[in-house]
Amino acid sequence: MNVSASRVIRTTVGLRPFRPSGFVVRAEKLGDKIVIHNYGHGGAGITLSWGTAQLAADEAAKTALRDCAVIGCGVVGLSTARILQQRGYQPVIYASEMPPNTTSNMAGGLWDPVTVFDDATPEFRSQFVAAAHFAHRRYQLLAGDEYGVRWMPIYNLANDKPFAPPRPESVASEIQDLYPETRYLEASENPFQVKYGRRRDIMLIEPSIYLDKLMRDFLIGGGKVHIRMFASAADLAALSERLLFNCTGLGAKALFNDAELTPIKGQLTFLLPQPEVNYCTVGPDDLYMFPRHDGIVLGGSHERGVWSTDPEPDVLDRTLRGNAALFSSMRRAPGRRAG
Ligand SMILES: Cc1cc2nc3c(=O)[nH]c(=O)nc-3n(C[C@H](O)[C@H](O)[C@H](O)COP(=O)(O)OP(=O)(O)OC[C@H]3O[C@@H](n4cnc5c(N)ncnc54)[C@H](O)[C@@H]3O)c2cc1C
Repeated sequence: MNVSASRVIRTTVGLRPFRPSGFVVRAEKLGDKIVIHNYGHGGAGITLSWGTAQLAADEAAKTALRDCAVIGCGVVGLSTARILQQRGYQPVIYASEMPPNTTSNMAGGLWDPVTVFDDATPEFRSQFVAAAHFAHRRYQLLAGDEYGVRWMPIYNLANDKPFAPPRPESVASEIQDLYPETRYLEASENPFQVKYGRRRDIMLIEPSIYLDKLMRDFLIGGGKVHIRMFASAADLAALSERLLFNCTGLGAKALFNDAELTPIKGQLTFLLPQPEVNYCTVGPDDLYMFPRHDGIVLGGSHERGVWSTDPEPDVLDRTLRGNAALFSSMRRAPGRRAG
């Protein structure tokens, strides 16, 4: 990995739609309409999208309504619209922004359901576990260049605390089967000069390729997209469709007065692509590196409650310095000599 300021091609900022009690998938009456909420996926909207789309479609199946609209055209709206098409509905999408201008395009794209909740109620826990399993299964079917989904090794790295299997009572223990061949690395096996390491295989989803393909699938399926901004839930009530799916991400805060929804600002820096880099890293601390076709992604900043989408020079500097230190300290392969 070549990390230097001279290789930076762009810096982007996105706001993760986070709720301390987790995403919302539930039905609500709005006048003569039913709204099915599907928002608040925090740092894992790409990861969980197929799963919560499935849960939302299951809610819809409890009503007799067929004429429907999806509000939002990020990963959650598009996946919900696709699942509905596959179940024989003909959804229309209304959204103020389409890819490439959604938060979903700002994601790193790792399949990993993290930064989703602080505390899980038993009800949320079962939705979360079901959504993670369904989504993992669906992404496996999309692996390949067409959707920009690939499996790759990931090294989780830490200096403060060793990695260990999740406690049996934890939520994480219920999705451990989604991380086959997890290995807790001995110091001698860890290629990085970092105290603790874990290696597993994971899927990386490239948002610009993936969202374009989802959009095309939706249009080929007969879908239509209308660019439209809704100022309030009352605006939604004026739509002709009676079954609405609220997939507005952070936009749901203003639309439905959700006091819990809060942004977690994240800044990504992209370096020139290096096609030979075939693994991801997460850690130590806030750092991560994902090798994508549109550049090497360096990220990991999480600023809760911050609404600004301005890039911060000190975050850029910290990201570059941290990653430069990590990769320059990599162990050389046995037998190789310095110089
Ligand atoms: C830096 C960063 C890194 C991330 N990394 C990952 C990762 O590695 N893996 C992962 O799974 N997730 C990741 N995420 C999280 C992921 O990006 C989000 O969870 C996801 O994008 C949420 O998708 P969404 O469709 O709900 O929202 P959005 O993509 O924000 O889409 C919302 C849609 O609703 C529309 N909308 C909103 N309000 C209104 C309104 N009032 N009227 C009309 N339309 C409206 C918008 O125009 C848009 O079309 C990351 C996020 C960030 C910021």
